[in-house]
Amino acid sequence: MTGMAAATIHKKALVTLTFDDGLRCQLDRAVPILDRSGLPGTFFVVANTDPIHTDGVQHPDWSKTTWSEKDIQWMKSMIKQGHEIGAHSVSHRRPELDLDPKGEAENSKRWIETRLGEKIPSYCYPFYHVTEPIKNAVMNAGYKQARGGTQNSFYASQDSVDWFAVDCHQIAINEQAENWVRPGCWHVLTYHGIGTIEDGWEPITVGEFERQIAELAKLRDSGSVSVVTFKEGADQMRRLHSEI
Ligand SMILES: [Zn+2]
Repeated sequence: MTGMAAATIHKKALVTLTFDDGLRCQLDRAVPILDRSGLPGTFFVVANTDPIHTDGVQHPDWSKTTWSEKDIQWMKSMIKQGHEIGAHSVSHRRPELDLDPKGEAENSKRWIETRLGEKIPSYCYPFYHVTEPIKNAVMNAGYKQARGGTQNSFYASQDSVDWFAVDCHQIAINEQAENWVRPGCWHVLTYHGIGTIEDGWEPITVGEFERQIAELAKLRDSGSVSVVTFKEGADQMRRLHSEI
């Protein structure tokens, strides 16, 4: 009987939608689109008040949250709606990330927790840059899981997962949602710009984003997919592991 129950549970695909950098386009455009379909996202925001995503890399000016009172209220309402807010460092710059891994991990956690009045258990490494000192700092700061690079585009339920370097699949245009529904697997997807290159890194258009989310909502409605936050996905995968 346990075997049957486990088999049934394992059949659904788990999908987690993550958004990096706390970009304006994500808060203003992606969130309403997700809310219309009732799908949760996980937003990894940078803990500083710069209005522009100043990451030390050459690109157009990308607007990000300034942590204005309005944005803070919006993020609080997002959490009530079922979204997750995670940390994405203080500076999002090199060499700071390598020089002060402890400060980047701890201070971004504290900054967000203070403003949102919530525990922040998830971290995301800027530039997919994960070293031993950086990973240790994230573990020691009290996070429960962290999103890393793009080696593994999904995890099967029996795969061993490094909870402090969970890989993801960077979304491009013309993605088909059917690729994210392997039964029993956890698909962690990553978005940056929603709009044009003026909005964020590797952008997809708003129309393309809407199409992907609508397809995903259809799969959720058909019962083949469960869309969950990063924290919830990690928790569910940990539970599956303890059952196997
Ligand atoms: Zn980033």
